[in-house]
Amino acid sequence: MLPSFFDSVLQLIVRTSTDLPPDVRAAMKHSLISEPEGTRASQALTIIAQNIDLAADGEGAICQDTGMPTFEVHVPVGANQIWMRQQIREAVQEATRRGKLRPNSVDSITGKNSGDNLGPGTPIIHFDQWERDDIEIKLILKGGGCENTNAQYALPVELPHLGRADRTLDGVKKCILHAVWNAQGKGCSPGAVGVCIGGDRTSGYTHAKEQLFRTLDDVNQDSRLAELEASIMSSVNNLEIGPMGFGGKVTLIGCKVGVLNRLPASFFVSVAYDCWAFRRLGVVLDAASGAIRSWMYRDPSHPIIPMLDQAGFTRTGREIALTSPLTEEAVRALKVGDVVMVSGRMFTGRDAVHSYLMKNPPPVDLNGSVLYHCGPVVVKEGETWRVTAAGPTASIREEPYQGEIIKRYGVRVVIGKGGMGARTLAALKEHGAVYLNAIGGAAQFYARAIKKVDGVSLMEFGTPEAMWHLSVEDFPAIVTMDAHGNSLHKDIEQESGAHLEAIGV
Ligand code: SF4
Repeated sequence: MLPSFFDSVLQLIVRTSTDLPPDVRAAMKHSLISEPEGTRASQALTIIAQNIDLAADGEGAICQDTGMPTFEVHVPVGANQIWMRQQIREAVQEATRRGKLRPNSVDSITGKNSGDNLGPGTPIIHFDQWERDDIEIKLILKGGGCENTNAQYALPVELPHLGRADRTLDGVKKCILHAVWNAQGKGCSPGAVGVCIGGDRTSGYTHAKEQLFRTLDDVNQDSRLAELEASIMSSVNNLEIGPMGFGGKVTLIGCKVGVLNRLPASFFVSVAYDCWAFRRLGVVLDAASGAIRSWMYRDPSHPIIPMLDQAGFTRTGREIALTSPLTEEAVRALKVGDVVMVSGRMFTGRDAVHSYLMKNPPPVDLNGSVLYHCGPVVVKEGETWRVTAAGPTASIREEPYQGEIIKRYGVRVVIGKGGMGARTLAALKEHGAVYLNAIGGAAQFYARAIKKVDGVSLMEFGTPEAMWHLSVEDFPAIVTMDAHGNSLHKDIEQESGAHLEAIGV
């Protein structure tokens, strides 16, 4: 068998999780200079840039959600795919053990996390044969927040702000614009979309995701699709959704469109949305040894150029310090747009914790607390725990529970990303609480604001879903929903909806 195959796959996973490819770095650098200094968008991009640098320097996960590992493998005729599949699975297991991948494989019925990223359907591995004598393995790590913003349209269809999308390229354009508008900041914009025109419901989504293996500067060989991609890129940033949905000039960094034949009765447009943490790399391996012959998307002989020349959050002097536990008076004094620095105790809680709290009393006193929607990567070092990646998760999933939990237990601050809905907004107003938007994907940046893990509850839900008790210092975030009924998310959605109408496809 191939003695270096396992190590090569492990290197591929570690590098993909910790270092963005040069084309994505270049696009993010361009985004950074496109947003005027001092704006919310610019502050968000500065944190993202710092996070990219920190992840590459320390070989830490760029985002705590290391996503669904998806491998596309090309092998020479006669290669042993059964053995290779097993080796890839073992490399995924090892990368998880080393904290480079978060345990992300959950039994869909029991909710139990397998702990090692292995399980039915995970990881995804596609094999193809080719006539070449080497092996190519490409990997994409696409997280849940952006996966949840994927969309599929069956044309013709009526779309808000855009009218009817017919079975034409203009109709396709409307669907893509609608998908980006609908994603707002929930998929950690600025993002990139892979699109498939046609196919059936299954092949359409697969082919859309495959488009994300194209580099951002790649020009479509089909001139009709090249024109469509260019036209999306020239109009989509006028939506002014901006980084993290804070408003701004950069909403999308790439649009790649593929096409498949379809049944006469069906016309699907499938959109795969990827976030700024667009982790995609590949290797070409020697078919006899499995050793890496070359890397794809990156040239290891070129040094990594840092995104920024300074480290740390750049303060403007207008930041408001908040120390938990918090009083109602302190949070009612905050308003949308305030930048705050949170210190003190913070508890994590995502889907399993919220569902638990609806039926059971909390395992800790939540009065005046800060509840962080986050599924961190945590490693055990002797008897203590250390958080190695801890960005926010998409908050909208907790919308059915959040208002009730604020009311019952006295939570004063909820931190997450992408914003929440009308029920939570009403609860913030009624009970005196605020929603803070942290910068999605900035897992390394936020891990450094966590000074200590003081404990953990509900560990039976697995590491990402447990309730971690954290001591934080100067954790920056922006008030995007306040206790006076204001929501930046609602405002941006309405304003960008008006821009969508104005584009006039
Ligand atoms: S950057 Fe945002 S959308 Fe992307 S994987 Fe991380 S949390 Fe999910």
